[in-house]
Parts: sequence; C-alpha cells; structure tokens
Amino acid sequence: VGILFSGGKDSCVVFELARRAFHPAAMPIELLHVDTGHNFPEVIQFRDEIVEKHGLRLRVAHVQDWIDRIHPDERDQVVRRCVELSQAGVDHEADYRALTADQRYVWVRETVHVLRNAQGGTEALVGFIFDIHERKQTEQRLLALQRELQALSYQDSLTRVANRRRFDEALEQAWTQAQATQTPLSLLVLDIDFFKQLNDCYGHQTGDQALVQVAQALAQVCDKCNDLVARYGGEEFVVLLPKVGLDIARQVAERFRRLLQEQAIPHARSPFGQQVTVSIGAGSLVPQPGQDCAGFVHAVDQLLYAAKNAGRNRVVAQAVEKPRRAGLRGRQRARPQALAGTASS
Ligand code: GH3
Ligand code: MG
Ligand code: MG
Repeated sequence: VGILFSGGKDSCVVFELARRAFHPAAMPIELLHVDTGHNFPEVIQFRDEIVEKHGLRLRVAHVQDWIDRIHPDERDQVVRRCVELSQAGVDHEADYRALTADQRYVWVRETVHVLRNAQGGTEALVGFIFDIHERKQTEQRLLALQRELQALSYQDSLTRVANRRRFDEALEQAWTQAQATQTPLSLLVLDIDFFKQLNDCYGHQTGDQALVQVAQALAQVCDKCNDLVARYGGEEFVVLLPKVGLDIARQVAERFRRLLQEQAIPHARSPFGQQVTVSIGAGSLVPQPGQDCAGFVHAVDQLLYAAKNAGRNRVVAQAVEKPRRAGLRGRQRARPQALAGTASS
C-alpha cells in the first residue's frame, strides 16, 4: 500500500496526480491530506471530487500525527531534517519506522517534493510513502552477515586471534597515526622455538593445540585496548603496541615469556626444561617522514633472528634507528641446534 500525501495551499496538485497516475484497482492507495491550517475551500472541494470519482481512501491528519507515528529512536532527527529541507525548498527522502493502525512499526520511505510559489517560498509538499519493511529487513540481515563475515575475514581460524591481513591494516593505521602525532610505536615478532620437532614428536594436532595455547597466553598478556595480537603465519606471532616505547615493549615480551614458562606446555625435545618457549624480537621507534612500515617489520624480524642466533628462548629488544626495506637476502638465521640432551654450540 502506498500513501500519497500532501499539505498546503497547492494540495490539489497532488490530488490531480493521484487521479492521473494511479488506478486504485492496480495499486491500493490511500490519500493522506495533511491539515496545515492553510486549506482553502476550493482545494477541499477538488479533493473530495477526486476521492469520490476514483474511490480513493482518504484520511485527513494533522502534521503532529505524522510526527507521533515516527519511531521515537529516529523521530527527532527525521522531523528536524525534513522540516529544515522543506523550509529550504529542497526535495528529499527519509527512511524511518512508522506506527501502523494495528500498532506495529514498519519501515517506510518517504519522498517529498516541494512546491514553491513565484517568490521561491515553500507553498506545499507532495510526496509518497512506500512500505520498504521487507527490503529493510533483508538489508539489515545482509549488513549483520557482512559484519560477521568481515570479523571472520580478520580472524585466524585456528587460534582465533587476528590474522595477517588484520595486522597489515592495523599496522598501516598505527604507523600513519604515530607518524602524524610523533608518538612511539612498538612491535614484537615472536617465533616458537623448535616447533618442527614438537610436530615431529607429538603430531600435527598437538602442534596445533600448542599454537592455540600460545596465542591465548599472548592475548592474555596483551589485553590493552590498543594492543593487537596477530598470527603472522605458521608458528610466528606479532604484537602491535601503539603509543608504547621500548622499555614497556621489552617488559611485555618478558612478561609473556614468563607466563609461557608457568604454563609449561610439554615439548620433550626442547632443551629449555622440556617445554615450549619462544624467541622474541622487540623493536620500537617514532616513525619519521619518508620511512615506511615494511622496513620496520623487517628490522624487528632481524631482532627476532638475533634472539634465535643468541640461543633462543629470549628477548632481543632494541630501538629501530633507520628502518630499511627488506633486502634480497632476507633473514640470517642460525640452524636449529640444541636438541634435548645434545650439546649446543
Ligand atoms: P626455530 O627454533 O629455529 O624457530 O625452529 P622451528 O622448528 O620452530 O622452525 P622451522 O621454521 O624449521 O619450523 C616451523 C614449523 O612450524 C614447520 C611447520 O611444519 C610448522 N607449522 C607451521 N604452521 C603450522 C600449523 O598451523 N600447525 C602445526 N602443527 N605446525 C605448523
Ligand atoms: Mg618460524
Ligand atoms: Mg620456530
């Protein structure tokens, strides 16, 4: 059902429109005449003739009735906007929930055309109200689904922490902000030690479980609203710490190493108390103009591999002076040495 409505001196225009455009049998239509206090007898007469001739349903209402029927959540905003635009002589549209005769709220779209007099002043409004309830509900379901999908597309399916894609976006954002505000930005890059041997020893499923435990412990340590824990790939994780300097970054890394120690995830082939450990690179800088974040990640990755080369199960923290883009040679890393019970070089 559509509602054709009008108000003001030139309302006969809308009744004429109703007569020409709509055959009542083809589309049930209700005529709403908004009583603005400026209704002339000839307008009323013209209206009534058309209504009778075409068998239209007519309802006369006051502007307040329109206002009262708008859902309280959007009422003020819709009324303010529509009145402003009507007074300014601008055609407009508004979506809102309107109360029906049987006391339900349905989504409607109102399109309003402003009729102006010779001086350009607003003389009358004519418009149409459509029922868009089903479309709106479908739209809202789609939006919810879209949000859900987006959240999923940013999540690592195994560990439930953020994925690489989310990290890349968050890093870009944090980098730009730190550059603009000249505040520090820190990054931890973590890699589980001897993980291949954990897989070999216990099987892939236990390996997966260890990844989940490590991710959860990491999320537990880095729970400030700005911190972002992400799985970078394989058995590597990253933590982005905006507005955090090197000292705090080092502390967070050490706190995580200690928590992991307390959790004592079994790893029979690890020389470090036969439990899972990590090596961590921790880097910090205040991004300068002309520097880019890929160089920063590369520099912190080098710190991780310094930690590996220095024997694993440790943090190497350092201020990043001049981040450069990754060179062709990439990482320089030590071969995994110490197996439990064997000598380390
Ligand atoms: P290092 O101490 O030098 O880091 O040695 P590592 O054995 O941890 O490193 P390496 O890069 O040799 O091996 C990483 C292993 O991680 C190899 C791969 O099979 C395993 N891996 C990567 N992704 C997953 C995963 O999703 N699940 C499991 N279970 N294992 C994974
Ligand atoms: Mg690795
Ligand atoms: Mg590893």
